Amino acid sequence: MQKHTIVIHGGAGTILKDDMTPELEAEYLKGLQGALDAGYAVLEEGGSAVNAVKAAIVILEDNLLFNAGRGSVFTKKGVQEMDAAIMDGSDLSAGAVAGVRNVRNPIELATEVMRNSNHVFLSGKGANDFAIKQGVKLEPDEYFFSQFRYEQWKAIRDSDNYSLDHTYSDIDELMKDKKFGTVGAAACDVNGNIAAGTSTGGMTNKKYGRIGDSPLIGAGTYANNKTCAISCTGHGEVFIRAVVAYDVSALMEYKGEPLDKACDQVVNHRLKNMEGEGGLIAVDAQGNASMVFNSAGMYRGVKSSDGTNEVAIYR
Ligand code: ASP
Repeated sequence: MQKHTIVIHGGAGTILKDDMTPELEAEYLKGLQGALDAGYAVLEEGGSAVNAVKAAIVILEDNLLFNAGRGSVFTKKGVQEMDAAIMDGSDLSAGAVAGVRNVRNPIELATEVMRNSNHVFLSGKGANDFAIKQGVKLEPDEYFFSQFRYEQWKAIRDSDNYSLDHTYSDIDELMKDKKFGTVGAAACDVNGNIAAGTSTGGMTNKKYGRIGDSPLIGAGTYANNKTCAISCTGHGEVFIRAVVAYDVSALMEYKGEPLDKACDQVVNHRLKNMEGEGGLIAVDAQGNASMVFNSAGMYRGVKSSDGTNEVAIYR
């Protein structure tokens, strides 16, 4: 049986040990391990990389600690607008949604778009109509409310600032304890097929229907059996301009670079030169994994049939 691996992230940014309590740290690690185990169980049963990615992301979306699904940040208008994408590296099929509201698991909706629509990318009200048609689970506004997200937003809502929920450079002191992130997963299954997915509430206080890199195929999410499956996290505007996920794939496809080297080149050189803060997780079709970031930390984890099982936060 071929080596099977799942790798996940829960956001990258200015995540410092000094700002974390032992209890909160334990909660994060537990959340990451739970998602990793859920995704890995699918692979162990011979399930597809797509289903493993979805299983891991659903767990993270349901966890208030992470900026996706239930824990999504507030927009300028004080609501949650979520983005998600999934891609299957075996046939390059993909599905994505942007600016959806009240959808419990946006990654489920992205998967519906991939499998059951003739489209790749749906947005806003139309995407919500499609969710209703497909019977994707919706939740009332209250489900997405949490006091700490509300406080995060209150601290900057009267300004023109918007922020990564896990970076606090220009925000109130209050933000220091509140660094929670976008989520993503990439997996290689027992058949050597790979897939990636990403889900996010985007940036706190975002406005004008802002969409980041997460749901954009090629920027925040990409998968191709020939090269790699990637999910990104960080300052979305720069990740879009750098076409990060596809850039890693292109280095592998056209220059023959191995996974680690291609990821390092893009995150620690190209992105850094553009002042793009963040990171990515990746797998290739041999089940190798990579977790690379140029920020202080990235919530992350990897589990593989070779016995690897790690979750980590800091550098
Ligand atoms: N990349 C996401 C965005 O810009 C944010 C994040 O990774 O937390 O929407």
